[in-house]
Amino acid sequence: MNTLESEPPQSRSAGPASTPAFAEVAMPLHVFQTFTYRLNPALGAQAEVGARIVVPLGRKLVTGYIVSLQDEAPPTLNEIDIKDAQSLVDVEPVCSPEILQLARWVAEYYACPLGEVIKAALPPGMSPSGKRAFVKPKLRRFVRLVNPEAEKLTEAQQRVVKTLTDKGPTSLRALCDAAGVGASTVASLAKKQLVEIYDETVRRDPLAHAANLKREAFTLTPAQSTVLEVIERQIAGASYSAFLLHGVTGSGKTEVYIRAMRSALNLGRSSMMLVPEIALTPVFSRRLRAEFGDQVAIFHSSLQKGERFDEWTRVKNGDARIVIGTRSAVFAPVRKLGLIVVDEEHESSYRQQESPYYNARDTAIVRAQKESATVVLGSATPSLESFYNARHGKYALLALPERIGARPMASATMIDMRNVFARHGKPRVFSDELLEAIRDTHARNEQSIILLNRRGYSRFILCRSCGETIQCPNCDLTLTYHRSERVIVCHYCNHRQPVPGVCPACGKKYIYYVGEGTEQLEEMLTQFFPTLRVARIDRDTTARRTVFEKSLSDFSAGEIDTLVGTQMLAKGHDFPNVTLVGVVSVDTGLALPDFRSAERTFQLITQVAGRAGRGDRPGRVLIQTYHPYHYALRHACAQDYDGFYNEEINYRKNHSYPPFVALATVLVHGPDLGRVRADSLELRKQLDLANEDRKCRILGPAPAPLARLKNEHRFQLLIKSRSRKQVRELADAALKAATDKGINLRSVNLEIDPVSIM
Ligand code: ADP
Ligand code: ZN
Repeated sequence: MNTLESEPPQSRSAGPASTPAFAEVAMPLHVFQTFTYRLNPALGAQAEVGARIVVPLGRKLVTGYIVSLQDEAPPTLNEIDIKDAQSLVDVEPVCSPEILQLARWVAEYYACPLGEVIKAALPPGMSPSGKRAFVKPKLRRFVRLVNPEAEKLTEAQQRVVKTLTDKGPTSLRALCDAAGVGASTVASLAKKQLVEIYDETVRRDPLAHAANLKREAFTLTPAQSTVLEVIERQIAGASYSAFLLHGVTGSGKTEVYIRAMRSALNLGRSSMMLVPEIALTPVFSRRLRAEFGDQVAIFHSSLQKGERFDEWTRVKNGDARIVIGTRSAVFAPVRKLGLIVVDEEHESSYRQQESPYYNARDTAIVRAQKESATVVLGSATPSLESFYNARHGKYALLALPERIGARPMASATMIDMRNVFARHGKPRVFSDELLEAIRDTHARNEQSIILLNRRGYSRFILCRSCGETIQCPNCDLTLTYHRSERVIVCHYCNHRQPVPGVCPACGKKYIYYVGEGTEQLEEMLTQFFPTLRVARIDRDTTARRTVFEKSLSDFSAGEIDTLVGTQMLAKGHDFPNVTLVGVVSVDTGLALPDFRSAERTFQLITQVAGRAGRGDRPGRVLIQTYHPYHYALRHACAQDYDGFYNEEINYRKNHSYPPFVALATVLVHGPDLGRVRADSLELRKQLDLANEDRKCRILGPAPAPLARLKNEHRFQLLIKSRSRKQVRELADAALKAATDKGINLRSVNLEIDPVSIM
């Protein structure tokens, strides 16, 4: 394993005379080491760092990435043990020196294999295994006229010539259709050299069918202008600088980002804008398209492979200079980077939840440093870490404290569900206050958003006779009832089974559904208010991009009165006619055994409250809770970020959590409980041995809060220290020692700076 401060291997001095004889290759796999291969003179003459190369690994051929070239074999290797590389995939590297350098940083900092990082940095389909094919540009046959002056043509041939004269170069298919001929007619003309058939790359454009937005020209508010000027000055200065833009929802941050990108472009520099979720991307990307046209490329995982490849290629060629995308867009091969915007920087989706475990926000900071660019982290609810960094001078703090047009922030009120319970003698999903507010809003022809962070119909199924709840066979979780599909589903592993008619444990019929989900809310609202047009937005309804976009656009057009959904609803969308936001429950979120649960809840409430009253009419927010005195809820209701920050930062300090310490989790997982427990105890032993000087604090092993997932048991250890370097060195040493003791690193996940410790 690598150490934190190691320098990349010395690259050879490039000269026309020298042909490298060896290549160091990183594999797109979860293996930490790199491999050296011999290059024959022909390969050596063409090989470049950052190109893909096919090499033997075990008995297979694998496509890896050249990460360095050498004239001599590394002294640690025996020359006869070195295998020959098979063939080069690229003449031109797919991974530029800048991206390779960034990938090296990610691999070092997050302790993950370099090849896995490079793979994540490239569009999918660039490193196929086995017989799967590479993604390639899409070609289409085109025909153009080269010599119209021909004689003695058949009628069909004349029609072809006429069509080409009228239309200019045309795709073969369109030409055949227009002229009413078969491809053989065109082929015969090509033979006579009257026309030429050739291949043209056609671009797969993810926004091809998106409606175009009209770009509105605003005059910036004085607050926006001040912020923009500061950012522009740094972009012009062309050295690294980092900002945290703390702007309340609706304060015009996005407008500032767009103008800053425009300034960068005017200076000949490219920009990237990272957004947390695909849900936000269609709205944003159209707004950017309206401003920058074809200069915009879009990167996110729900695009088809071909579309992703083409967008990446346009960026690599310099045809697109503005990138908008989710997490992996931080590796977009933009050249002359001037600006990176990380919107909603507090979002945990910037963190990849599988190896390589990197955080795109933090990677963006490092990229800006390495490429002398300006980085702007923006949020209405900055993460504790970022705000702490801004307070301590690591980032410059910029603020947009007011909404555009001096629109007031929505007024938020808590509804104490303990009183509601006392009043009715039983729990209620909707309090009378919330129902009344929905009714009034509807009567005024205004819209409402109802939030509940739980999809499905019922949280779990309980047998009232024997008390049995139905658990996922693979995970430590109850199955959620999804009524429309008549199944019960595990929200972690997606295990599905039909709804039982009788209790599987006792065979009796007293099956009972407990805990409402979004699907049930939707149904209840339609029952309460027959004229209310309700739509639902959650991961079940948004599996297809088109359905999701349609719900949003119908809501935007006023064809839907109420949107019910999960936290997907809380962000980004701008609906001026929404005057009511109701939060049905946040209590499960508050109760999660994670040091970030208060922060998350505060962010969620503040963000969703920001959806109300974005138009001319004031907004209202109602929050139902059994914990009305919780500080996260109190400060969220008061829209008081500073108040929340001050309380939360004290808690973090007193309990030694980030940002006061660096944190790492070591998760041991596997199908055999005894093995997992033994391995995690061995790891603890090795951590203690490596921690002789007691510079780190080690906790655990203990069963992880989600103790079994996807048929695997999970034990967790925590490492804390004031110095991140020490955490990394300790983890490295312990994992290395553990490997020597026979522990398989595939069953150990090391996460540096985890966003959650569940
Ligand atoms: P944020 O990103 O902070 O939530 P937006 O940039 O989306 O805010 O701005 C909120 C709304 O105000 C949007 O509808 C936007 O078009 C509009 N807006 C932004 N800046 C101005 C301005 N200077 N004058 C008028 N309207 C503006
Ligand atoms: Zn499961």
